[in-house]
Amino acid sequence: MKRRNFIQNTALGSLGVVAGTKAIAGTHEQAKSSSAESQLDKPYKLPLVIATWNVPNATEAAYEVLKNGGSSLDAVEQGCRVEEANAEGQSVGIGGLPDRDGNVTLDACIMNPQGDYGAVVYLQNIKHPISVARKVMEETPHVLMAGSGAEKFAVSQGFPRENLLTEASEKAWKQWLVEAQYKPIINIENHDTIGMLTIDKNGDIAGGCTTSGLAYKMAGRVGDSPIIGSGLFIDNEIGGATATGLGEEVLKTVGSFLIVELMRQGRSPQQACEEAIGRIVSKNKNYKDFQVGYIAVNKKGEVGYYSIHEGFSATCYAEGKNENFPSDFFNKS
Ligand code: ASP
Repeated sequence: MKRRNFIQNTALGSLGVVAGTKAIAGTHEQAKSSSAESQLDKPYKLPLVIATWNVPNATEAAYEVLKNGGSSLDAVEQGCRVEEANAEGQSVGIGGLPDRDGNVTLDACIMNPQGDYGAVVYLQNIKHPISVARKVMEETPHVLMAGSGAEKFAVSQGFPRENLLTEASEKAWKQWLVEAQYKPIINIENHDTIGMLTIDKNGDIAGGCTTSGLAYKMAGRVGDSPIIGSGLFIDNEIGGATATGLGEEVLKTVGSFLIVELMRQGRSPQQACEEAIGRIVSKNKNYKDFQVGYIAVNKKGEVGYYSIHEGFSATCYAEGKNENFPSDFFNKS
């Protein structure tokens, strides 16, 4: 399944996004079933990179930094930048699908092992929101900047203004305007939010999350991806987690923070991801209509990934191998 196929949309009726419904399946109990992937059974040797989706170029760029003794923060920034610069990808950086009004608006955040956080929301005309988020973290007394203020700040930091609406994305948007009349079947492109977690050889953890958000969203909509605790959370004593999928549901359950706190209580990354998905499912009878996927890592180098529906995957680069693994999922029918 392609990456964007996996967010189903009826739950977003108020946003004018539409469903491809699947038969309802499963109970909360099913979320407890464990994924049997062998790489989930044992810790990786550090350093380690894990990212949402099949993004080998991004994980490779991050791993390169770690292999050469670079920091987990530099690694995660470099990894995320690969997808942001990929104009073919229609949900991150340049080429991201626009909102209903045709504006490409980007959200991103980054965390370092010290627990510092920086983020941008509703950023326009700047290709690398992950790097602007890092600048917010390192060069300002703030943690979160939005819209035109964030854009002005980025320009003051030397980021060039660029048109991010590619021909392909403009065409898709125009087609959506004509045919879907604000009831689009969205997320049928093959790209999605990049969430990435990196651990350097000393065991220090960083994370990043970058997205253009839901295609054809209402102007001004911000999802989970740039919000600390929802789209991303790192606690260097414990581990980290990041999310992809329907941001509204991740926000409502503060998913990434939940996963890190569950790991603090002794859950493995896999158990924690499954429990966080179970939390969403148990609180939302419409879970059949949307998708959420999580990845997580702990201090020992154990990883986890889980989603509501089939189709999610994670890319891990560790021990010299760059591999994409399909994720286990809740809805088995
Ligand atoms: N989580 C992102 C958002 O809601 C979308 C995605 O992962 O595709 O903005």
